[in-house]
Amino acid sequence: ERDAEIIDGKAIAKAVRLEVASGVAELVKRNGVRPGLAVVLVGDRKDSQTYVRNKKKAAEEVGFYSVDVNLDANASENEIVASVRALNANPNVHAILVQLPLPDHVDEARVLKAIDHTKDADGFSAANVGKMWTRGGEPPLALPCTPAGCVELLKRSGATISGAQAVVVGRSNIVGTPCAALLQALDATVTVCHSRTRDVAALVRAADIVVVAVGKPHYVKAEWLKPGAVVIDVGINAVDDASRPRGYRLVGDVDFEKARRVASKITPVPGGVGPMTIAMLMRNTLNLAKYHVQTTCAA
Ligand code: NDP
Repeated sequence: ERDAEIIDGKAIAKAVRLEVASGVAELVKRNGVRPGLAVVLVGDRKDSQTYVRNKKKAAEEVGFYSVDVNLDANASENEIVASVRALNANPNVHAILVQLPLPDHVDEARVLKAIDHTKDADGFSAANVGKMWTRGGEPPLALPCTPAGCVELLKRSGATISGAQAVVVGRSNIVGTPCAALLQALDATVTVCHSRTRDVAALVRAADIVVVAVGKPHYVKAEWLKPGAVVIDVGINAVDDASRPRGYRLVGDVDFEKARRVASKITPVPGGVGPMTIAMLMRNTLNLAKYHVQTTCAA
């Protein structure tokens, strides 16, 4: 039995945000350009409002110029697309984020497609996804934030990625699949599991690195893990807890208390992957602003 190193996502996210802040200061000083991030929020979902508020606060702290677009829940698809196009044309905006989910009457894909791919803050555009899966070509301009956060936690906690057997549980477009792409690009040998995978436990047992993004509390058991594995838990699940003022607490997809006795390094929930997502959004925005400076100065 061991006691895994707990990977401190809060501290690592803070370090990344400080690096971004100094990158912003440098870009302002050298090029007179302040990175601009636009956040489009449609409707009044409480969770989306919280995410947007946190993103704006982080943007302010690192020194971005920030633009908010708030549209009514019944805004038409065309209105939303029109506001994205206005941001595409705004020279002070280098990164655009449309907070998902959009209301049911709106075709999310059409709205996301309207974002100029050189301003795609989340790295979800087809151009970026293609670059992420292509070896030896141009690197993507931005990386999907949560997967990039997982990789950053692995790197900064000293885990060896090259040559490792990595298992990613979950294949969503926002987490599992792009995470697999990033790990493969860093020379891990990657297996992706999903709801039709026959024996997830057996595949996890062979893994040096396990990334779990399923959305089911305590889905991955300690017995599944290879001793010494590095575990990144992306899941955020609310479970009833009468001892908490809110009546619930947040847990990940991994049985953390038991898994920490088997793993060599593990992320907690909360305080692991969660704080990294916004830090990576900040890094993407800075990188998009730098790209803009490079391309306009070279012209
Ligand atoms: P999705 O629901 O989009 O995807 C879940 C994935 O898990 C799917 O690929 C699904 O397979 C797979 N899955 C479901 N059941 C099983 C099973 N029994 N065995 C193996 N695989 C299974 O979720 P997301 O990827 O969006 O999010 C995953 C979790 O991460 C959630 O808890 C979410 O809250 C959290 N999250 C956290 C973020 C952060 O920390 N900032 C950001 C984004 C998400 P199939 O494809 O076959 O349906």
